[in-house]
Amino acid sequence: MDQPSRPRRIVVIGGGFSGAMSAVNVARLSEEPLHITVINDEPSVGRGVAYRLRRPEYLLNVAARNMSAFPYEPDHFLQWLRTRSEFESATETDLRERFVPRQIYGDYLRSIVQHHLQSPGEVTPATSQFVIGKAVDVEPRESSCLVHLEDGATLEADRVVLATGNEPPAALPGAENLTDHPAWVANPWQAWEDRLPAYDESIVILGTGLTAVDAILTLRAKGWLGSIHAVSRHGWFPHSHFRGIRFPDFPPRGVDVATLGLDDLLLLIEEHCAILHARNANPAIIVDKLRSHTQRIWSGFTHDEKLRFAKKHAARWNVFRHRIAPDIYAQITSSQLTGQLQVRAESIEKLRAAADTIAVDLADGTSLEGNLVINATGPATKFTATQSVLLQNLLRRGVIAPDDTDMGIGVDFDHTVLTATGDRSPWLLALGPMLRGTYWETIAVPELRVQARHVAETLLGNAHTEEQEGQLQLEYMI
Ligand SMILES: Cc1cc2nc3c(=O)[nH]c(=O)nc-3n(C[C@H](O)[C@H](O)[C@H](O)COP(=O)(O)OP(=O)(O)OC[C@H]3O[C@@H](n4cnc5c(N)ncnc54)[C@H](O)[C@@H]3O)c2cc1C
Repeated sequence: MDQPSRPRRIVVIGGGFSGAMSAVNVARLSEEPLHITVINDEPSVGRGVAYRLRRPEYLLNVAARNMSAFPYEPDHFLQWLRTRSEFESATETDLRERFVPRQIYGDYLRSIVQHHLQSPGEVTPATSQFVIGKAVDVEPRESSCLVHLEDGATLEADRVVLATGNEPPAALPGAENLTDHPAWVANPWQAWEDRLPAYDESIVILGTGLTAVDAILTLRAKGWLGSIHAVSRHGWFPHSHFRGIRFPDFPPRGVDVATLGLDDLLLLIEEHCAILHARNANPAIIVDKLRSHTQRIWSGFTHDEKLRFAKKHAARWNVFRHRIAPDIYAQITSSQLTGQLQVRAESIEKLRAAADTIAVDLADGTSLEGNLVINATGPATKFTATQSVLLQNLLRRGVIAPDDTDMGIGVDFDHTVLTATGDRSPWLLALGPMLRGTYWETIAVPELRVQARHVAETLLGNAHTEEQEGQLQLEYMI
């Protein structure tokens, strides 16, 4: 008698938005029994790094209308918000444009996970389990593979999805001597707010991006009155969201921005920014209008253009592209106006321990001294220097390989990982921030929800063609 075939086993490594939503989409779309395991090194699968902190002052940096977890159901998040008493009576326009607290978005993701992955047999033929632990290696076998966890446990899988999220910040010169220093905060996502110095002392924040903004919001929410210094190469904070104007002139009719190449594209952007300036309009409109073309532009760049853009233009791109809620922007501006927050535009040379404080030596020969120094420089971007034991092991095995910019790993159009020999992996898929070298924009929910859906479709054998995939990215990422 034939043995009944066992359900296919899918293991997703990483339980932030990318991993959780890949698993949810598999469960939602599957018509056959499957077993899905999500491995995450933190409890509360779904929240990930961005949505797990219980801090009401942290708001989403994307308006509610564009935060649905599902690409084909644009109002899903808005409808879920209506189930909560605090949003029940908001007008439709108000609700759509709201920047909701990130912890509430985490509740939304948890409710989706609960519904699709924790109600076995009720909503899907797939079964699922969560494993709280750290994956450290995946060993390919003849017809399956073995996922190894830090505690020695193993899990057998037919297919594996890598969704490990952002890297921690890159190491700064001198930081290796600060590991146990009481004034050093190496990871800005781990509670540091109960270590605040006295009001006549100083906090130095390394970086002026979104992570630095979070740190300043926390200091304000705690009512901390000491001085804050924020330092980064350019000293630019993210811009605020704003109400745009109609600007049909860009991209100009008949011009395909994806085939111009970097230099001509920059000239075109500068020309149209000047037009917007002359109309007293915000030039960030150009960045918004490029949004649906970004992935095509990036893939059309030569290797040299990609590196040049990342080195010379990415900082400016990011302050326009990753904007913050107007209310948050107002708080940062207010801290600057009162003099509490002082911003320096300078490169950081070295960190030095000095008794109870840490000195931050800057390239102009000056130093900033902090009673607390927070590393908010943002995720490290050199992939082969990854601090993840798992990713280092996969690199060593050749089952993943850096893309040609070394910002992440190479994948094919359907998220199948490309091995060190350039072949399509028979069992490994990937999504999320580690695809930065392939897509450039691969961090925010509007991109990741599309990726999570595609990963599920590939796993279920329903992948689109390369052409359809490109079209879907265009339609649903915006
Ligand atoms: C503070 C912050 C705020 C943000 N705000 C917004 C926003 O408002 N709107 C928006 O669109 N985007 C926002 N983003 C972008 C954000 O990156 C995405 O929205 C999304 O959360 C990324 O999800 P992810 O699953 O790819 O990564 P992560 O959220 O980083 O999840 C990866 C998970 O994998 C786990 N993991 C890693 N390695 C292993 C391992 N070896 N074994 C087991 N588990 C592992 C990690 O612990 C983590 O839980 C924000 C990001 C941050 C950091």
